[in-house]
Amino acid sequence: MCGYASSSADGVTSEDLMEQLDQTLRKYNGELFVKIYTSGSFLDDNEVPPDVRTAIFSSFKDAERLLFESRPEYINEQVLRTVPKNATVALGLESSDPNVLEMSIRKGFTPEDSRRAGMMIREAGLKVRTYLLLKPIHLNERDAIDDTLSSIKFADGFSDEISVNPVNVQKFTPVERIWKRGGYRPPWIWSLIEVLRCAGSVNARLISSPSGGGTQRGVHNCEKCSTSALNAIERFSFSQNIKDLDAVSCECLETWLNVIRAEISLGTSSDVMRAMDNDLALGK
Ligand SMILES: [Zn+2]
Repeated sequence: MCGYASSSADGVTSEDLMEQLDQTLRKYNGELFVKIYTSGSFLDDNEVPPDVRTAIFSSFKDAERLLFESRPEYINEQVLRTVPKNATVALGLESSDPNVLEMSIRKGFTPEDSRRAGMMIREAGLKVRTYLLLKPIHLNERDAIDDTLSSIKFADGFSDEISVNPVNVQKFTPVERIWKRGGYRPPWIWSLIEVLRCAGSVNARLISSPSGGGTQRGVHNCEKCSTSALNAIERFSFSQNIKDLDAVSCECLETWLNVIRAEISLGTSSDVMRAMDNDLALGK
């Protein structure tokens, strides 16, 4: 489902990265929260050489928080000693189910690898944000909700923040091919709300800021309620109060419940409503 394979550049040098840092610093006004968005592994020496990392760390040493992400295999005690204490390391756990990680996501590591990395980051006195993927392919809405709920419990043992990311269908990916032929529908916002509502008591902050929300390629309900439902999720992410989610109501709640029943009785994770919508059936 990751579209970055088709939008990554080869041959990026340390000089290029330093130039990018210089340009960023010209615009930086001492914002307290700095997010370094590599869409990869900031702690991978091949991606971000150690001298560039050091320069970035010292440029933002006065920020309250510095967020970057890394796969667990690049996290070890040695590299963590080079990371400043204002850092939060984000881990893409996606799911705590080894089968889902292997069969639906092909992540290339196990949930245990993420947990080991998370514990090590915390022992180094740093914070952990864990990303979970809501509704990877081959999971129907109900299984997707349950998978993310179990993953929240698992991640809560080593995370300061848990961010639930619903799948968004990116261009030139296998998921896009499956989606175009009706074999997949991104999750309903109702499913995301169900996850946030049913997570129960978690120590970590539970947040969600879906990309592509409200569109056919992203998490969506019907056209009438998608925007207000996403706004409610944004309010919840700040307040952590599930009452903020109760504000959403729409007749498509009934449709979502019917879809869940249909998927279960048909034993499918395909887009069961697709056949009823001609535009979608034609892949428009
Ligand atoms: Zn609706």
